[in-house]
Amino acid sequence: MPPVPRAENRIEVKTFYHFLTLSEDDVTRVKADMEAAAERLHIAGLVILGKEGLNATASGPSETLPTFLKEVGNMLVPGFEFFNVKTSWVEPGEKIPFKGFLVKVRREIVTLKRPDILPHEPGSNTHISPEEWHKGIQDPDAIIIDTRNTYETSIGTFRGAITPEIEEFSDFPEWLDQNVKDKAKPTYIFCTGGIRCEKAIVAMEERGFTNVKQLDGGILNYIDQFPASKTSSLWDGECFVFDNRIAVDGDGRASQKYSACPHCGQPADHSIFCVRCDSPAVLCDDCYNKKAETGSETCSKNCANQWTVHPGRKGRPQILTPPTKRVE
Ligand SMILES: [Zn+2]
Ligand SMILES: [Zn+2]
Repeated sequence: MPPVPRAENRIEVKTFYHFLTLSEDDVTRVKADMEAAAERLHIAGLVILGKEGLNATASGPSETLPTFLKEVGNMLVPGFEFFNVKTSWVEPGEKIPFKGFLVKVRREIVTLKRPDILPHEPGSNTHISPEEWHKGIQDPDAIIIDTRNTYETSIGTFRGAITPEIEEFSDFPEWLDQNVKDKAKPTYIFCTGGIRCEKAIVAMEERGFTNVKQLDGGILNYIDQFPASKTSSLWDGECFVFDNRIAVDGDGRASQKYSACPHCGQPADHSIFCVRCDSPAVLCDDCYNKKAETGSETCSKNCANQWTVHPGRKGRPQILTPPTKRVE
């Protein structure tokens, strides 16, 4: 496995998004200005930017991170302040989320293959707070739907939630059409930080759903308000995140349990020794089960390829390249 960088000092992490209409020129300008600000203020992170807005996780010292958010807000609309910011902390010795700062320009900032969807106004009555959510999902009539993908739902979800077993968010509407017939029941939807639900709820209303609520700020906001070790949290397991931490636990701390599978990047917790180079590695369920069938657990893509070409031939321990990072 590649070494995971660890924090020397306490680091603040902020997750935020905003939908607004930007021109091609705006996108180019905002990207350049954000990169300059990140460098000046020592901010790391990942930003998905497009003509429909931005979706970001940024980390850095608490002295400069708020300034960064303020500056980015100003780049979008003078005086604009993000209103749906989720904050978490990385303590010294824990895995740090990002090594650098990266802006990816995409057609959609969350991929439903529906760039035409305009989300509801912020603060609309379909958004409910973690407190309202906590109460609402205990209603025996409630339908609770996890809008995330299988590689995320497999390591944790809300008690009683339906997990659609989809590979990509853009498969969600079709899954709905085939699986959810009762469109009038109280329906509660959630995702990691709230952004996917902004589009999901519109897709649901187009299909005739009349009583859908979305968890404002997503799982990260809920965990922040209802930490598992201190409250009667209804969250079970860990929450997949799109950075080096792989997942956070029920208290929002960097996962101690999961690392990234060297073959596919999914959360991994099966320890093995590579059949080719004897290096220790940690595989995800899928890859572990696949390799266990063929009896050829390997530590890396290279060892897997070499072992296929030359079965039984041992090789030197690998210097591993990080797995390809998945993006929401
Ligand atoms: Zn895997
Ligand atoms: Zn190996």
